[in-house]
Amino acid sequence: MSSKPQKIVMKFGGTSVADIERIRNVAKLVKGEVDSGHQVAVVVSAMSGETNKLVGWTKELSPLHDAREYDTIVAAGEQITAGLLAVALSALGVSARSWLGWQIPIKTSDMHGSARILDIPASQMNERLAQGQVAVVAGFQGIANDNRISTLGRGGSDTSAVALAAALGADRCDIYTDVDGVYTTDPRILVAGKAKRLEKIAFEEMLEMASLGAKVLQTRSVEMAMVHRVPTRVLSTFAPEKGGTLLCDEEDIVEKNPVTGIAYSRDEAKITLLQVADKPGIAAAIFGPLADAGVNVDMIVQNISEDGKTNLTFTVGRAELDRSLAAIEKASPEIGYKKLLSDAKVAKVSVIGIGMRAHPGVAQTMFMTLAEKGINIQVISTSEIKISVLIAEEYVELAVRALHSIYGLDAA
Ligand code: ADP
Ligand code: ASP
Ligand code: MG
Repeated sequence: MSSKPQKIVMKFGGTSVADIERIRNVAKLVKGEVDSGHQVAVVVSAMSGETNKLVGWTKELSPLHDAREYDTIVAAGEQITAGLLAVALSALGVSARSWLGWQIPIKTSDMHGSARILDIPASQMNERLAQGQVAVVAGFQGIANDNRISTLGRGGSDTSAVALAAALGADRCDIYTDVDGVYTTDPRILVAGKAKRLEKIAFEEMLEMASLGAKVLQTRSVEMAMVHRVPTRVLSTFAPEKGGTLLCDEEDIVEKNPVTGIAYSRDEAKITLLQVADKPGIAAAIFGPLADAGVNVDMIVQNISEDGKTNLTFTVGRAELDRSLAAIEKASPEIGYKKLLSDAKVAKVSVIGIGMRAHPGVAQTMFMTLAEKGINIQVISTSEIKISVLIAEEYVELAVRALHSIYGLDAA
């Protein structure tokens, strides 16, 4: 590359650093940027499978473990890769050192397990970068106000990388992963080759895609890129020359198709209360106790019935189902319902696109397509640039394929 020297943050996910050979490969990619004259900070994830193993051990010992100890344990995976990559870089003759969250320090909120980054002091690191030293930063971790190690929620290394890029005033943030960009849908769910890589995606669309289930970027990393205007790219560690996908402003996208992408999430559960009184205060009586129990309620529908009673259905994260049911049962005297039903075998499928604003009929196409496939829609929710439906989990793949095709997203 002959471009003028830049400050770059490169992030490598779990598959990219899965073993020693791959860590060597990452070191070579980093060296390439250093040799081109750039200042480089690298953010690494734990080796693939490592975080799951650590989470598993913690849960095995105690399902109701202390969240601070959870963070102490699960943050360890990134410490190992940061050290290994620093060693691999030194072995290639590149000056490098590892940085753990607390050493920088990446200051976070006290929400252990899903902490938010509050501040990253950049001057010390910028000095080292200017001297030509590569900073190898352990992703996913920080230090909370309580002086304990914190982690940023699963997939959080993306957020570490974008936040670091914002703090350092980097020219760009490159997220290297196991796919060569953001696709029209998860390339793993479509028959080989049908999903298409997007050259560009608007921040708003990527935000919806991520929060509606596309795990290619953690939602908070997209928020951070959008707010701090960090030029962020997603590209493949194994084929970086393919170019990847750039997150950009809506104005930078010339051709605004009605639907840009399709996301799905199996992480859903549905709760229905039968025969609740249709009167003021009922929603508060139901959703108040859920909020107090820390449950995030997503989609909601209420049917009006003639005898003053109504059925109310809503969704929560599948992992929060038991807690939600317990909270509702406890508040049952105040709510007053006839029956409480739940279903954990549901999934949410969403179509997303900024072009939707200008193209009426996107919802109708979605509903008709699902109807033709005999897929029943249980709940619907919409925003300006997305339509989500809740369906039986067994139909997720069928639904995504049919929608991908009807909106003209299939690769030729
Ligand atoms: P990393 O370990 O590098 O952070 P992740 O597994 O977190 O990687 O994210 C990459 C994965 O995201 C891909 O392997 C792919 O299966 C999944 N994914 C889901 N939706 C999409 C999408 N729309 N485009 C690309 N990848 C997607
Ligand atoms: N290692 C962490 C996880 O698996 C963070 C990350 O990979 O982004 O969730
Ligand atoms: Mg990830």
